[in-house]
Amino acid sequence: MGPGEMFVPFFAVFFLFVVIIIVVVAARALSSKGKVQRPLSEETAFPPPPPPDTVLVKCDYCRTEQKWSEKCSRCGAPLPKPRIP
Ligand SMILES: [Zn+2]
Repeated sequence: MGPGEMFVPFFAVFFLFVVIIIVVVAARALSSKGKVQRPLSEETAFPPPPPPDTVLVKCDYCRTEQKWSEKCSRCGAPLPKPRIP
């Protein structure tokens, strides 16, 4: 084995090492970009839902609009779950 033959595998390993570093840095830059944008879009798209007892629901049977509870305050029928916009 001469010195020229030793140089080729060394260069190949070095080149591979550089490529891996570039890929890792690029992947980290992309993922950090996504992390910065995600919380902002979540805040604007999904505001905190109001507590269920402040949402008005309409009874399916007697059409009474009331604050949501397990049963209708007028006819005692089970009320539909409040729809949070
Ligand atoms: Zn009712």
